Amino acid sequence: MSDAPDPAGNSQDTAAARRTRMVEDQIVRRGIRDPDVIAAMRAVPRHLFVPDELVGAAYEDSPLPIGFGQTISQPYMVALMTELLEADVRSRVLEVGAGSGYQTAVLAELAGEVYAVERIPALVEQARERLARLGYRNARVALGDGTHGWPEHAPYDGILVAAAAPEAPPPLLAQLAEGGRLVIPLGDAHRDQMLTVYERRGTEFRVERALRCRFVPLLEGDVEGDETLGDDADVNPGAEGDATEGD
Ligand code: SAH
Repeated sequence: MSDAPDPAGNSQDTAAARRTRMVEDQIVRRGIRDPDVIAAMRAVPRHLFVPDELVGAAYEDSPLPIGFGQTISQPYMVALMTELLEADVRSRVLEVGAGSGYQTAVLAELAGEVYAVERIPALVEQARERLARLGYRNARVALGDGTHGWPEHAPYDGILVAAAAPEAPPPLLAQLAEGGRLVIPLGDAHRDQMLTVYERRGTEFRVERALRCRFVPLLEGDVEGDETLGDDADVNPGAEGDATEGD
């Protein structure tokens, strides 16, 4: 098979082949073992979650810019955080920092229900459109400040935070179910951080440090300054929408 560039990303074969290679080289080879996580990484078309001009780089071993100073996480990081979450079909999961919606889609492949919060309105819209177009009926995306969690649907069996904070936000710990796990990068913005897992045991938390990492910062407050967590329209399966991919 040719490795010709496919700037438009229209060739399904090429995208699928690149995705298979991504999963083998970046995910399996680096030690991700959970078969459901591997299947989810094989299933989600990452090239549909990056800006048009970066479609050709969608399966590379790196984060990519998605506009607004934000990034779609590196594939390995998405897989590792998902594995650390230990979610399955019975799980209700919260994602803080939906960004492109890619991690949301990966979670929707595995978990029963996914609730995602994002503070940049344009990213919320785009993530909703992508998830709807791909038919994910079990994922909802809200505009808001995810440091407060999404209390309406709590408690969560898993909470995944895709942005770095100096410490675990207390509302997120409070919204964990018994045995639930919070996966979050802890540390200063744009410096080395530590991917950390909290697991609820009654009123205590077991804390485990997983890996050095680097994420964009978790910012307080929502971009428009208005709390709009109620604006959580269901992702509408089959809706085509007329928005373009990318920024
Ligand atoms: N999982 C995403 C990662 C996006 S980067 C992906 O793979 O595409 C992190 C995201 O967190 C950014 O989109 C940023 O806007 C968002 N973010 C930062 N602070 C936030 C907050 N307090 N509440 C909700 N989203 C936040």
